[in-house]
Amino acid sequence: MRAMMTSDSARPIWIDSHAHLNLFEVEEVGAVLDRAHDAGVEQVLVPATGPKDFDRTLEIRQQYPGRVFAALGVHPHEASSLSSDVNRRLERALEAEGVVAIGEIGLDYHYMNSPREDQMAAFRRQLDLALERDLPVIIHNRESWEDMELILREREGRLRGVCHSFTENPERVQVVESMGLDVGVSGMVSFKQAGNIREMARAISLERILVETDSPFLAPVPHRGKRNEPAWVSCVGEKLADVLGIDVEEMARISRKNTYRLFGLDS
Ligand SMILES: [Zn+2]
Repeated sequence: MRAMMTSDSARPIWIDSHAHLNLFEVEEVGAVLDRAHDAGVEQVLVPATGPKDFDRTLEIRQQYPGRVFAALGVHPHEASSLSSDVNRRLERALEAEGVVAIGEIGLDYHYMNSPREDQMAAFRRQLDLALERDLPVIIHNRESWEDMELILREREGRLRGVCHSFTENPERVQVVESMGLDVGVSGMVSFKQAGNIREMARAISLERILVETDSPFLAPVPHRGKRNEPAWVSCVGEKLADVLGIDVEEMARISRKNTYRLFGLDS
């Protein structure tokens, strides 16, 4: 973290709390991280999406220690793949250095790539694993609020984690925060039509707000429609600062601090 201590202290330094570098071509990742660095994005948290990218996620972490942190878990799209065998692999892989969370996990009833029962079972199983290992979780939720709330409430007050790229209403922000969880804001906050996301963002407490790209998805304005990358978390953060009426530098500092706190990273 040398760069943070340099004399140009007014320059915002960001951390991208959610980017799937494991979905980029192997030979591209170095250049993507260099562009991130040039944009003041010093660190990136890379969540796995399923057993197929556990190894790749750990490799990227190993190649860029201190710049990349890893989360491992089985995404709701792949929930049906969480066999006992995969669960054992996950448990083993969590021991690797630089693995700071279980994720991404959750529910997705929009695509329903795995049946609802499988999604709920995989979500519960991985939340319990997180409690057992004292790890935070990265939660995905799409059109599945009721079941997600139900499952989180079963473990209320015990979990740490973030509801990433949150898109629910302000009341639900309060529910999430009351359960001790943080809220991630993605580039959707910059989309022209997304007044609801901006309203949601204003409801998040400053102690609970994280910024993310969700690369390669959800590229923020002015890059909308392109493949997203961590460098552009600065665009997300700038827009969010504008929405919240705070300084960009302050936004960067707050979201970095919250991300460090949640995932136990060195600041
Ligand atoms: Zn994601």
